[in-house]
Amino acid sequence: MDNKLYSEHIKLKNITINDPFWTNEQELVRNEVIPYQYEALHDRIDGAEKSYSVENFIKAGRVVEKLKNGEDVPVFPADKWCYDDKNTHPDAFRGWVFQDSDVYKWLEAVGYSLINHPDEALEEKADKIIDLICAAQLENGYLDTLYVINNRDEIFSNLKDFHELYCFGHLAEAAVSHYNATGKRKILDAACRFADLICKTFGEDKIRGYGGHEIAEMALIKLYDMTGKKEYLETAKFFIDERGKKPYYYDTVLGRTTVNDNYHYNQAHCEPRKQFEAVGHAVRGVYLYSGMADVAKRCNDEELFNACKKLIENIMHQKMYITGGIGSTVDGEAFTFNYDLPNDLAYSETCASIGLVFFARRMLEISPDAEIADTVERTLYNTVLSGMARDGKSFFYANPLEVLPEASHRDSRKHHVKPVRQKWFGCACCPPNLARMISSIGEYCFTENNDILYIHQFIGCEAKAKNADIEIISTYTENGRVHIKINPQKEFTLAVRIPKWCNNYKFSKPCEIKNSYAYFDIKSETEIYADFDMQVKMIKCSNRVRANIGKIAVTRGPFVYCIEEADNGKSLQMIKIKHRPEFRTDGDIIYAKGCREKECDILYSEWTNPEYTETEIKLIPYYKWGNRGENEMSVYISTL
Ligand SMILES: [Zn+2]
Repeated sequence: MDNKLYSEHIKLKNITINDPFWTNEQELVRNEVIPYQYEALHDRIDGAEKSYSVENFIKAGRVVEKLKNGEDVPVFPADKWCYDDKNTHPDAFRGWVFQDSDVYKWLEAVGYSLINHPDEALEEKADKIIDLICAAQLENGYLDTLYVINNRDEIFSNLKDFHELYCFGHLAEAAVSHYNATGKRKILDAACRFADLICKTFGEDKIRGYGGHEIAEMALIKLYDMTGKKEYLETAKFFIDERGKKPYYYDTVLGRTTVNDNYHYNQAHCEPRKQFEAVGHAVRGVYLYSGMADVAKRCNDEELFNACKKLIENIMHQKMYITGGIGSTVDGEAFTFNYDLPNDLAYSETCASIGLVFFARRMLEISPDAEIADTVERTLYNTVLSGMARDGKSFFYANPLEVLPEASHRDSRKHHVKPVRQKWFGCACCPPNLARMISSIGEYCFTENNDILYIHQFIGCEAKAKNADIEIISTYTENGRVHIKINPQKEFTLAVRIPKWCNNYKFSKPCEIKNSYAYFDIKSETEIYADFDMQVKMIKCSNRVRANIGKIAVTRGPFVYCIEEADNGKSLQMIKIKHRPEFRTDGDIIYAKGCREKECDILYSEWTNPEYTETEIKLIPYYKWGNRGENEMSVYISTL
């Protein structure tokens, strides 16, 4: 860990995306997802599960007003995860305990979108939402509608389950995004007031607690970077250092004297700097690891960085699907054990992959590593994009690698595996998370320090780096070609990632290849053409993964491919791919020679050579699956 090598990402306001592939995704978010979510947050979508998010802010605003006027405010229970409308008093909080975060995620995505694409009407909508949020803030800075509405005396009494610090984290992230987009301080000031209260409340001689759903750690760092207030860094570090210490806070707060060792779900089973295996709820895990990397960099904390390094290696080498999905079980939406990657039971939540991208970028800022940048690419082009329908109107929460619609309907173990994307979810974490990820994609392309600019992702854009103006003209997703124009203000080194999937590459200028980056000395205005040969590949999975023995996956460039019933008929398990078939491509479709095993209805019979008929297998990019109604899908294909 060498702090001279530390880098920063280029801020969104210094990047304009103009990429044929990603601009389309960003336009879907801007034109479909953000307006749809605005309606959903207001409960104005027929047939969708209710959000109650805006309603809760309005109710909390009324409570704050009454408190200011010295009026009596009723108390309601604040003891459940979810408050449905049947059993809830009309004046009380409704929905999930973390409902506020959906409004914040929407606002964060709006901030990024406004940077890319100024839009007065959208900015006005955001201002109205900000007014509602700020009206719900208590005088001491506290802001979480569940406790503001239901019971002010129980604030911060159940950190493990009730998401106040989680909602704070999303508030802070939204505030930073909105301030960067508009320069308006209202929501940033509100977030800082809540952060100040948190810093006053938690610490060595104060409450020694930490959030059950991590994010406050990385959110405090965002506020620290923006304001320079060292209390924010100290409290982020405190949350990390206190987590998992024995006796556990989660026990002592309940007066328990016995040690309950079951806090893996919250990554609170031991101190984070002693955690080397990714465990528990996958989204919480990668959010914690992101905060750990943030703190490791700012405190030059090698021990913490080494834990992060082991954690990301564990994820990349033992716990990640080929699609960049993580968290292989629905039970606790969690990581399981090494090499346990079932295809049909996969949870692989969209948010978890987004969190993995957050974590990966923070690691790249500490130390460049092509494998980690490859992982960002794998995750973005496969699981993250698969999370949203091609029309931007429906979403996956779980991203399986094999789907049989009948199993999803009739086998309760697979109810989480949806054969088609859903309009909206009561627990709607994934769609707004996707909106903020796609709108801020520019922040994942580069890292830079005073001497070196790294290009990690090949997304067409214009960027203002420390030492140069850069333009990337990219047809990377189509044919692996990238054209880089550099206009330097001073001499510097440009480092270009060479993707792991690429065996044959060409650069138009001399360079030094080191650790899968091509290094160029830039002295004057320069153009570099990079050509990455996008050969179709058959990928095998370790035989430690039981589900994939005798099977392969097909990839081309950054894309993982799959087969669907719509192209290949029912019973995809009977399709076999030949050992080294000739692949034919047509646009982003791949055709391969294969065959189909003859169906046999007899449950058991003496073994004979199977009979096959020749067939042409049609494969589509994984991110496009499930856009033609319910049908079978499989990433892995049996080999002949
Ligand atoms: Zn989610």
